[in-house]
Amino acid sequence: MGDKKPGTVAFYSGLALLGAGLLATPLVGLLMTTPIVLIGLALLLYGLTGTGRKATGRPCACCGVRIQFEHDAEICDRCSKPVHGRCATEHKAAAHKLEPGQPFR
Ligand SMILES: [Zn+2]
Ligand SMILES: [Zn+2]
Repeated sequence: MGDKKPGTVAFYSGLALLGAGLLATPLVGLLMTTPIVLIGLALLLYGLTGTGRKATGRPCACCGVRIQFEHDAEICDRCSKPVHGRCATEHKAAAHKLEPGQPFR
């Protein structure tokens, strides 16, 4: 769980850039912030699609709810099924019978 996916980092950096750009627009003008907003948008899109692991649109192996965003998904390293980031621990515990004291991976 500890490792951050590059897509997640890009998504939140993009979100921050986009927000900062939009907030700064009334202060410094659209010409100054347009590049920032564009970079933010590009990062957002990269975060949503660029992780190289296509889980979007597939049902979560743990809770069965369809995964909406790539940055929200994990691919289980045991069974290669997509699960939500928040469901990954529960899925591994339930589907792969991880003992509580057993180290991950
Ligand atoms: Zn789930
Ligand atoms: Zn699994």
